[in-house]
Amino acid sequence: MSTNPYHKELQIATLAVKRASILTKQLSDSISQAGTITKDDKSPVTIGDFASQAIINHAVKLNFPQDEIVGEEDSQDLQNNKELSNKVLQLIENVQNETKDYDSLIGDLTNTESVYKSIDFGNSQGGSKGRFWALDPIDGTKGFLRGDQFAVCLALIENGKVVLGVIGCPNLPKEVKSNTDQSGVVGGLYSAVKDLGAYYSDLFTPGFIELSKQSKIKMTEHTSPSQLKVAEGVEKGHSSHSTQADIKSKIGFNPDTVKEQTINLDSQVKYCILASGQADIYLRLPINDEYREKIWDHAAGNILIYEAGGEVGDIYGNPLDFGKGRFLQSKGVIAGNKRIFGKVIDAVKDVCRL
Ligand code: AMP
Ligand code: MG
Repeated sequence: MSTNPYHKELQIATLAVKRASILTKQLSDSISQAGTITKDDKSPVTIGDFASQAIINHAVKLNFPQDEIVGEEDSQDLQNNKELSNKVLQLIENVQNETKDYDSLIGDLTNTESVYKSIDFGNSQGGSKGRFWALDPIDGTKGFLRGDQFAVCLALIENGKVVLGVIGCPNLPKEVKSNTDQSGVVGGLYSAVKDLGAYYSDLFTPGFIELSKQSKIKMTEHTSPSQLKVAEGVEKGHSSHSTQADIKSKIGFNPDTVKEQTINLDSQVKYCILASGQADIYLRLPINDEYREKIWDHAAGNILIYEAGGEVGDIYGNPLDFGKGRFLQSKGVIAGNKRIFGKVIDAVKDVCRL
């Protein structure tokens, strides 16, 4: 598609996210099937994080050597653990083998030294000038460990603004109507490019599919509380579910149905559900004054919402600023369709006494 100025970036981001999604899906499946993992055993997610970041950073650096990357992980702990390092390399080699048709575009990693180096390309401090990528190699680690929702999230940021986002959702069914009513093919790829819209395609179909051949997705325009659905996290330690309940009540949700109208999902798949018109509002109210959100937790989801015709802001309704370093300086995240967003922010201000 010659009209896409980010064609090459999208192609590489897609192939890298797909490769990392296959790897992380296999890990997530083996954990949930074994059913023996204890809550404190973080090693499967640790291995997945390192492997996913190594694969994606390698693909980005191979194609865009000038670009910096803000990635969640660094290789220090991995370098101190030879056994873990060998496991990570093994996983990477396995998935490269399964997807070797794309080595010519996204490269391959063949030894632990190059894995460390690739992970540490993620050490950029970000900022308001120039361009860099933001990567969450496994967003929603709690969901990953439960065999629930998690996402591989990659975004490109130029002068503080997100211009491209790709989210691989390995465990997300195509239709999510409520916490209990979910169906359709599992594994969605959600992509957005500045001014070109937001798109859905099947995550596990091999290769890069041009945007023109993917399904264009759009936010709803619902405003009636009886029609609205709200996406929230699962973890009560990541957002205030009680404040969110007060906000829903202020918006006018019926107390008898509000539970069915609330969909709890880990990770940035919440943004994907909104962008594809399956929910109308995303509430992420801070649980304390100190926490600052990380840019890789929101960058890809942010452009997905805008390109699907929605709005995103902090608790005051101000747009999120991705040009302030590795963290957002704002509090909370609220997203909504264009018609409801202002009303949601009014309810937030009211409930939080802002
Ligand atoms: P979610 O799956 O929506 O609960 O979000 C997962 C993300 O929440 C993780 O990637 C963490 O970076 C982030 N997180 C961790 N602690 C907090 C916190 N206290 N408040 C908000 N987000 C957090
Ligand atoms: Mg995360």
